[in-house]
Amino acid sequence: MGKRYVIVTGGVLSGIGKGIFSASVARLMKEAGFDVNVLKIDPYLNVDAGTMNPNQHGEVFVTNDGYEADLDLGHYERFLGVDMTRKNNMTAGQVYLSVIEREREGKYLGSTVQMVPHVTEEIKRRIEELEGELLVIEIGGTVGDIEGQIFLEAIRELALEKGRNRFFFVHVTYVPYLRTTNEFKTKPTQQSVQLLMRSGITPDMIVVRSEKEMDAVSLKKVALFGGVDLDSVVNLPDTDNVYQIPEILHSLGVHRKIGEKLGLSVNESFNWVYPKSFKKRNVALVGKYLGTDDAYKSILESIFLLGYEKPRVIDADMLEDLEKGEVAEVLKEFDGIIVAPGFGKRGIEGKIKAIEYARENGVPLLGICLGMQLMIIEFARNVMGYEGANSTEFDPGTPYPVIDMMEEQKKIMKLGGTMRLGAQEMEIFPGTKLYRIYGGKAKAFERHRHRYEVNVEKFPEMFKEPDQEGYRLIISAKSKFVEAVELDDHPFFIGVQFHPEYRSKVGDVHPLFKAFMEAIG
Ligand code: GLN
Repeated sequence: MGKRYVIVTGGVLSGIGKGIFSASVARLMKEAGFDVNVLKIDPYLNVDAGTMNPNQHGEVFVTNDGYEADLDLGHYERFLGVDMTRKNNMTAGQVYLSVIEREREGKYLGSTVQMVPHVTEEIKRRIEELEGELLVIEIGGTVGDIEGQIFLEAIRELALEKGRNRFFFVHVTYVPYLRTTNEFKTKPTQQSVQLLMRSGITPDMIVVRSEKEMDAVSLKKVALFGGVDLDSVVNLPDTDNVYQIPEILHSLGVHRKIGEKLGLSVNESFNWVYPKSFKKRNVALVGKYLGTDDAYKSILESIFLLGYEKPRVIDADMLEDLEKGEVAEVLKEFDGIIVAPGFGKRGIEGKIKAIEYARENGVPLLGICLGMQLMIIEFARNVMGYEGANSTEFDPGTPYPVIDMMEEQKKIMKLGGTMRLGAQEMEIFPGTKLYRIYGGKAKAFERHRHRYEVNVEKFPEMFKEPDQEGYRLIISAKSKFVEAVELDDHPFFIGVQFHPEYRSKVGDVHPLFKAFMEAIG
């Protein structure tokens, strides 16, 4: 069959779950029997999300091939159960960069380089590179955004070239509810559909997000003004379990609607198992990006997908000024602690205090990336007595650089895309807890995103073999660098240099999170 396209645009405001919706549609259509692929288009000028602040933009998701992506690629992986690559994300930055590079190389042969056709051609070329029978394309931002316009234009052209009947356009909007007058207000949605139509795109379906379930009259209004049948208006009220969405879409027959329009026959079978009830455990995620929960998305989802309530993000900065007793007072309500990844000095002393508390009190602790590096620093300072031990990231003149930049990184000056990135193989050592957690596998691929490494060559005395006596850290996995450390004299004290959270999927959460929650009990 020729390729088909489901295009998801957004209206009214951002942050209403377009990414979740797109991931859910992708899963729905996969279940309906198609070879589905996904593309997130980000109209911002950043080349990738790697240089963006998690407080503003949420977590940076890292793919196996070392691409630093928008967090929506995390949703796609978790919902679809398939690993994404750099091809699954296109930013305006990438598009313009390649057009300008081509221009400098003289490849446009003297023509005036313009938004249309040169930029649109580049966008279409990138879309065409993606494999799959059915492509779900999510356009970031909302219609009417200046930088998004060119992508709508490219897709409008693509639909003309390929045939409009191969395209299914879904517009996701928000309908606010006014408490004072007890009514839903559809005007912003009407206007947003009009904006979309001005770009030459008529929607085949309008998905209205709302705080609570909408009434029939309001839905009819959306249908009338949006120019779609009533049963092509899908209301999705707020839910605290986003994994319900594929099931809801299935029960509303969205797969059949899409199939009908695209001339495809769909399977009715639907195999989607996700957690529906959540045990309460108090897990603290000690971090410093507090602007939005999205900053730690994949970690929070990893715990949630195991059937536990999400961890609470605890401000590392707040712990920083507390005395030891006060730290214990704050943390004693928690059954387990995760120390978050991060960059820069702010918050590290608070995280180190949380680690000291967990190590001394036998509280299960999982340190991820920076979290593991700080476990090494805490151990150096408080067990080895190395006063002022630090990472050279935070204190270039430390007398004990237990975490340091490796030679190959030192030459790199630029910040974008220059870290140790993506999936790399490591060896896991028998006799360690990690080895058991990985089910006795001696090799694994894990994803990375960091610059600094454990300086084991310089400080070998901090570590011991699994069967050795003494209170020392055990190196439980290694590549060229230290990949994981643990303590044997503790219920669960494990730090990993890689990011297990990027590998968790619905029904297949990374074993480290499982083991961590089991240790909590
Ligand atoms: N800042 C640390 C490094 O660059 C850790 C990075 C992280 O936690 N992702 O090595």
